[in-house]
Amino acid sequence: MQKHLILLLVTFFPLVCFSQIIKKPIPDKLVVLTFDDAPASHYSLVAPLLKEHGFAATFFVCEFPPNYADSSLYMNWRQIQTLDKMGFEIGNHTQSHTHVDQLNEDEIKFQLSYIENKCDSLEISSPKSFAYPGYGLDSLSLRVLDSKDYDFARAGGSRAYDPLKDHPFLIPSWAPQAENKNEIMAALQEAKNGKIVVLTFHGVPDLEHPWVNTPPELFKSYLEYLSKHNYKVIALKDLKEFINIPLAKKLHPDLSKSLKN
Ligand SMILES: [Zn+2]
Repeated sequence: MQKHLILLLVTFFPLVCFSQIIKKPIPDKLVVLTFDDAPASHYSLVAPLLKEHGFAATFFVCEFPPNYADSSLYMNWRQIQTLDKMGFEIGNHTQSHTHVDQLNEDEIKFQLSYIENKCDSLEISSPKSFAYPGYGLDSLSLRVLDSKDYDFARAGGSRAYDPLKDHPFLIPSWAPQAENKNEIMAALQEAKNGKIVVLTFHGVPDLEHPWVNTPPELFKSYLEYLSKHNYKVIALKDLKEFINIPLAKKLHPDLSKSLKN
């Protein structure tokens, strides 16, 4: 009898425990918008359009080599500071857009600290969200993010985020580009039944990396669709309202799932 009781506890306790990962019911039509690499268009076009629609978002910034100092191509730090002042989240995308699965622990820490220190010196809120450059990740990078007390890390993978199954350092996302509108529109329909859709945009337009370009007209049509259909559009950090992060971090980080696009 006692044996059965123990078995019962072992079987159901984790379920009870993990169900508490959700602090507040996740509404249908919940979408997280993220913007990578700090191209100039994030400041000149994306941020004003998001404000017009009353949408929040996360900007994952780095100093993309070799041309990050060219302000016709990339935002400068004053512009990044302005995005923070406008209420947008500034996230960490490493100093030099280095794939963290190719780095040792000290190198990952250096890459993270560089952006943290820049933010600190400009009184930008300390980054608590991270995005893996090139979607490269490994168990070491997850450990370092945890040691530095990050809340969320975004990967690729082209599927919806299920907070009951996906570790908060392995949040999947879709990357809109010039030619995949049908895929993105289908993705937006998956924001229901506790799942959240996360989108990874690059430049609007992206002059340096045309393969991840989103034309401005296409971007505007996404924002209009989200507005018209009453989506709730938030930054990655806003997921804290719904998710108990310490409990979510106890989920097994399943690195076997493809998180690349
Ligand atoms: Zn990137």
